[in-house]
Amino acid sequence: MSKASNQSAASSGKAALDQPSNFIRNIIDADNASGKYGGRVETRFPPEPNGYLHIGHAKSICLNFGLARDYGGVCHMRFDDTNPTREEQEYVDSILDAVKWMGFNWGPHLSYASNYFGKLYEFAEYMIEQGHAYVDSLSADEMREFRGTLTEAGKNSLYRDRPIAESLDLFRRMKNGEFSNGAHVLRAKIDMASPNINLRDPVMYRIRHAEHHRTGNQWCIYPSYDWTHGANDALENITHSICTLEFEDHRPLYDWFNQRLADGGKLRRPLPQQIEFARLNLTYVVLSKRKLIQLVEEGHVDGWDDPRMPTLVGARRRGYVPEGFRLFAERIGVSKADSWIDYSILEDCMREDLNERCERRIAVLNPLKLIIDNYPDGQSEDCDAPNHPQKPELGKRAMPFSKELWIERDDFMETPVKGFFRLSPGNEVRLRYGYLIKCVGVEKDASGEVKAVHCTYDPETKSGTPGAEVTRKVKGNIHWVSAAHACQAEVRLYDRLFSVQHPGSGERDYVLDINANSKQIITPYLEPALKEAKPEQRFQFERHGYFVADRVESKPGQPIFNRTVTLRDSWGKDGKP
Ligand code: ATP
Ligand code: MG
Repeated sequence: MSKASNQSAASSGKAALDQPSNFIRNIIDADNASGKYGGRVETRFPPEPNGYLHIGHAKSICLNFGLARDYGGVCHMRFDDTNPTREEQEYVDSILDAVKWMGFNWGPHLSYASNYFGKLYEFAEYMIEQGHAYVDSLSADEMREFRGTLTEAGKNSLYRDRPIAESLDLFRRMKNGEFSNGAHVLRAKIDMASPNINLRDPVMYRIRHAEHHRTGNQWCIYPSYDWTHGANDALENITHSICTLEFEDHRPLYDWFNQRLADGGKLRRPLPQQIEFARLNLTYVVLSKRKLIQLVEEGHVDGWDDPRMPTLVGARRRGYVPEGFRLFAERIGVSKADSWIDYSILEDCMREDLNERCERRIAVLNPLKLIIDNYPDGQSEDCDAPNHPQKPELGKRAMPFSKELWIERDDFMETPVKGFFRLSPGNEVRLRYGYLIKCVGVEKDASGEVKAVHCTYDPETKSGTPGAEVTRKVKGNIHWVSAAHACQAEVRLYDRLFSVQHPGSGERDYVLDINANSKQIITPYLEPALKEAKPEQRFQFERHGYFVADRVESKPGQPIFNRTVTLRDSWGKDGKP
């Protein structure tokens, strides 16, 4: 293995002590204490390049790369590309991008299962020679029938005891392309009566005359996942091979293959150990690749990177940040028990990070005109607004102020209800970073709807002017933009893609659970400083939430903003918005 760690933030094993413990760390600590791997920690992240990574993968990425980082080890980025017909370079590229975006770095440790096809073939011949594998010539239907069930033992194939030399000859001819798909398979010779179905002579190779995205037409036999994965791990000197719980019953097979190869000197000891953890299940989200493909293909969303998709490209466009995902992974931890994580935990992690990093800006999403009767026509002045309330080092910006402003329609009530302290006739409020104003009248249209609010301002009360701020207390503090100076831009108010916690639970079609209000497009008034927002620049729009300039469709001087998340969880306990 390479001595150099591939983590920029790598540190000694001590750093691991700073992280909350979990059962995987306990195993690694015990291995380090016993010297099993000489203190080495090598993990891998092994996606199949047949789709885009999603939020569940983020958990696995944080876990595998995070352990390597914390223990001063290495995490290998390995594509599990054993299935020639489903894999594409487009997916490889997007997966590498997503892992980099998450903040991890595999250094020189990038590999593909297909790099090992030659080795695996050589190992397979060895297994046949040792009597551990045989070529079976049953049809697929017969194989299924002979396999038995959970309660019934399987039956040996008629070909199970064919001579080693015959299996070897057939296997070579399989490789040489002499047979059509399905004519033969190579199987491990284990135990057709095993209570664990995975051990009932599992398939090691299938004939598939198909072009592979990396090896082209070099092979017409392809190794199975089980035969490939453990050997790949051992060849890369992986110490802890971490996967999700559905592979628990495959672990005896993982060990069976590797032990036999190691006995024959094909693999070095100590062998890697497989450790299973519970996959991430998130409320309000579907993570199955099949369903994600359906959402895209049937046009329920605007593509793989639609900001409502749980893909990492979608989350990125939405404005989610890698730091938020890492915080989330830490907070939910890893366990052996399947459970559901509430979506609001992920949103809270994003808010926590965004609150720290985002500069504040003003946006009036649902505008109502406000006219200051005693402010001179044609005049304007600057008001200083801090870029971050807790971070004076981020400085201030000038917000132009003038006679006509836009305020939020919600911040005015002609007949205020009890407890409403914002603007209403006769009431005084503060214009954030500006003056105190008092409402003196309203203008209505023919239907009686309020078209504009008239106020007077007190010139002695400008925010930031020494002595002016404390003249008298008002309860309301509302935001505004100057009508003459505001810019308009498209803002996309995204919300959860599904309106129920468990989309498609029971027999229900999950498509019926799509939230009809998950995307709303508006063109609000923004403070002028937002006009020059760069793609992927993030802001808190005060009192509204976190927004990001869309990284795909924004143009210079013409940003489009996506709502990442509101300031507070607006979904009630009953799971309704
Ligand atoms: P799907 O079942 O949706 O097709 P997959 O698990 O087959 O996804 P892979 O590309 O094989 O997708 O996954 C790569 C790695 O990510 C695997 O180690 C897998 O265990 C892990 N992973 C996938 N989904 C989740 C999840 N929801 N939570 C945690 N880890 C996951
Ligand atoms: Mg998989």
